[in-house]
Amino acid sequence: MKKDTLVTHAGRHPERFDGMVNTPVFRASTVTFPTVAEMGRRHASCYDLPYYGRYGTPTTLALEEAVAAVEGARFGVAVPSGMGAIAATLLTILRPGDHLLMVDSVYGPTRKFCDSALTRMGIETTYYDPLIGAGIAALMTPATKLVFCESPGSLTFEVQDIPAIAEAAHRTGALVALDNTWASPLFFAPFTKGVDLSIQAATKYVVGHSDALLGTITLNDRTLYERLKETLVMFGYSTGSEEAFLGMRGLRSLSARLERHQRNALAVARWLQDQPEVARVLYPALPDDPGHALWARDFTGASGLFGVLLNPASKAQVTAMLDGMTHFAMGFSWGGFESLILATTGNIPRSARPWTWEGPSLRLHVGLEDPEDLIADLRAGLDRLTREPA
Ligand SMILES: *Cc1c(COP(=O)(O)O)cnc(C)c1O
Repeated sequence: MKKDTLVTHAGRHPERFDGMVNTPVFRASTVTFPTVAEMGRRHASCYDLPYYGRYGTPTTLALEEAVAAVEGARFGVAVPSGMGAIAATLLTILRPGDHLLMVDSVYGPTRKFCDSALTRMGIETTYYDPLIGAGIAALMTPATKLVFCESPGSLTFEVQDIPAIAEAAHRTGALVALDNTWASPLFFAPFTKGVDLSIQAATKYVVGHSDALLGTITLNDRTLYERLKETLVMFGYSTGSEEAFLGMRGLRSLSARLERHQRNALAVARWLQDQPEVARVLYPALPDDPGHALWARDFTGASGLFGVLLNPASKAQVTAMLDGMTHFAMGFSWGGFESLILATTGNIPRSARPWTWEGPSLRLHVGLEDPEDLIADLRAGLDRLTREPA
């Protein structure tokens, strides 16, 4: 089945629900059983069948099935947020004494989790250059159990050579996890590129409407899948059926939305490149981006999120720009239908490869509005920036 057909059909079972197109929202903690034998049977396969609310409901199981199918994996697990998916992955795989290789351009809260929770547990993290590629082999130690990737990187958008990293990691028996949120399950096929576990902050493009938090992890190894499920149940990480339903609803239009996000983002990014206030646009879909060749080789599209490096300007000038935007709202998160803008200046922590840009920087999420309106909004913003005394 082609991707668009999968997005439409995966995880739907109308025959189980009186012909209803969608799996309903099941509100359930208790599941009852008619006989002792049935109770025992369901308990034995508690990861596949509703057994108790904390293990999942038909709604969360449907989401897991759908996301796994679309991302190209055998198994999927639903988690209450993207951060939950990251934490559950790290806590399932790593033990005290283990070593983790973490990409330097990772999502900030993931970095925080490594530096606090993992450090407390006696798990050592080494940050590596996002552009390291096969050179990661030199950082592998006998204790390295996991190499964690995120491509393109949060805020800075470097594209990683995932196949080369995966090959080096697998040579010494380490697993590879990828935060695949930027590409969504549609624009990067992790399991054809050597990834063992793929993480989605489904809060972003899968939900797609800025109205729910949700995470997913997909993978092919059954033993690891059962260990992950065990972690989630043990920690009490249960995903609400309402959120799972919203994730499924978002998934059905994911392909159509992403196509438009990509078209709009390219139009806005190309326009920004030509503005005198802009030093560089960080978007691998642009032909002159340093990550373009890897992106073109490994990805099938670009989503609506990119960075902008502005020429030197004062804090007051950037504030004058941001305070007056009409269509771009200021906010964390992204992946919804609406455009967002965020100042990222001075907010890019690095340890392996310093981030040297001295000027202001922004992150834009280009939504589904008409790009002409978005461009006019940005031009007016840049005019405010220029007019404001430095
Ligand atoms: C937002 C985000 C997360 C965290 O997702 P939440 O659902 O907000 O917890 C993880 N990784 C990336 C790359 C993100 O952008």
